Amino acid sequence: MIISLRGLAKNFGSVRAVDGVDLDIYQGEFLTLLGPSGSGKTTVLRMIAGFEAPDSGSIHLNGAEITHLPAYERDVNTVFQDYALFPHMDVISNIEYGLRVKGIGKVERREQAMVALQQVRLEGYENRKPNQLSGGQRQRVALARALVNRPAVLLLDEPLGALDLKLREQMQIELKELQRQVGITFIFVTHDQEEALTMSDRVAVFDRGKIQQLDKPAAIYERPSNEFVAGFVGISNLISGAAGEKLLGKPGTWLVRPEKIEIDAHVPGGRSTTGVIREVEYLGPATRFLVDLEGGISLMALRQNTSESSDKVASMRNSTVKVSWSIDSEFHVKN
Ligand code: ATP
Repeated sequence: MIISLRGLAKNFGSVRAVDGVDLDIYQGEFLTLLGPSGSGKTTVLRMIAGFEAPDSGSIHLNGAEITHLPAYERDVNTVFQDYALFPHMDVISNIEYGLRVKGIGKVERREQAMVALQQVRLEGYENRKPNQLSGGQRQRVALARALVNRPAVLLLDEPLGALDLKLREQMQIELKELQRQVGITFIFVTHDQEEALTMSDRVAVFDRGKIQQLDKPAAIYERPSNEFVAGFVGISNLISGAAGEKLLGKPGTWLVRPEKIEIDAHVPGGRSTTGVIREVEYLGPATRFLVDLEGGISLMALRQNTSESSDKVASMRNSTVKVSWSIDSEFHVKN
């Protein structure tokens, strides 16, 4: 265990930003704090960094209590969304900065900074100023500047938030690769569920200052612990109430993911009903259908476009179709 949080809580005035968080993070793990805006994930990160003091609870790093240690005495580094680079310094000086503060000699710190520069694939850029770099390159410099200190834990606060989608997706892959390569524990904050699922070893889903679920990405998606997680991670069909009970023959709230629902195809031994297609969304590789079933239930279905043309799927709007899914794909969700 590299980080242990116990009963961590923080109020801002009357707002309970963090409401009793217990969390154990393993050495070398990529752990993501995921949740909607205002759910408390950044405050947790800032308390681990030492930028914010908890009202109660404790933080341990490698077995030693650091709850009240000043930020600069903690073996952690933070990478912020706005990069926080020194604009008047060139890339290599930015990266070396932490080593200089620690009093490491010129030759050695240049050597270590060059290694960090290679790790983020920015060789040749050492003498540029931050304003001569693209957003993605600036983000890499910010990473290198943190990595060069070889912290036990790297804290990343929405580090890809300012990048456009394409670059963001590319950086997600690079960041994950880099984390594997350097073996440093990463604690990553995001409100983007897709980002959390693709990059993390484990995800802690936050809502209203509390962890709602802590699990591997596949478990979060396939076995959400409650309605909040089911609704926040991925697109969910939640079937409940009297109409749901009539359809499924069982009470409670049940989750069926859109990709499990078949349109005009037979699922042996599965549920089978009819519905009217209200909306068709062509997504390129797949099409999303919104289907109204009898009894007032609407379901989202996702179908891969293996053979259909976009014209064919668009023409399905308002048509009556057979809707089916396997009973095994119904997952019971707690409130
Ligand atoms: P976001 O994704 O928007 O950054 P978050 O999940 O990281 O959200 P926090 O930034 O931790 O959420 O905020 C949790 C709650 O605490 C919010 O209601 C926020 O308004 C409040 N809060 C955070 N920092 C402060 C502060 N310095 N002063 C007052 N209230 C604060």
